[in-house]
Amino acid sequence: MPMYDYTCTCGTTFERRVPSWSSPAPPCPDCGAATRRRPPSPAMHGRAAPPPAMSAAPKSWEGLNNGDRDTITHWRRAAEARRDFESRHPEHHTRKEAIAAHEGHFERNPLTYRELATRAATTGDANKAAHEATQARKTGER
Ligand SMILES: [Zn+2]
Repeated sequence: MPMYDYTCTCGTTFERRVPSWSSPAPPCPDCGAATRRRPPSPAMHGRAAPPPAMSAAPKSWEGLNNGDRDTITHWRRAAEARRDFESRHPEHHTRKEAIAAHEGHFERNPLTYRELATRAATTGDANKAAHEATQARKTGER
């Protein structure tokens, strides 16, 4: 189940796991009013704490809410933030590329967030980008 940030007009913000992207926003835990989902942002992690290592990122297409665009954007930004952080703090450097999917056609040649974001850049469509990546893997496998 994905977790999202919600905000209320009373100023309260909170996180909540919901069954899916399309689930209605839960009422405010403080005042009970209707809330709105906030776009995910790595800035939520704050400046003091280092960005999460990409080992924390979902490793499957399902973990990405089946290619939910905001979820992918969130983890692509998190990956970029982590790269920035690691370039400033080489002692935290991890060589591994952040992997978005590694099952099925991606088993031998995993789909990275970088590739997914690059492929989605032209269309803005993560599902189409993943499909194209799948096709590229098939062609490559012969
Ligand atoms: Zn409220």
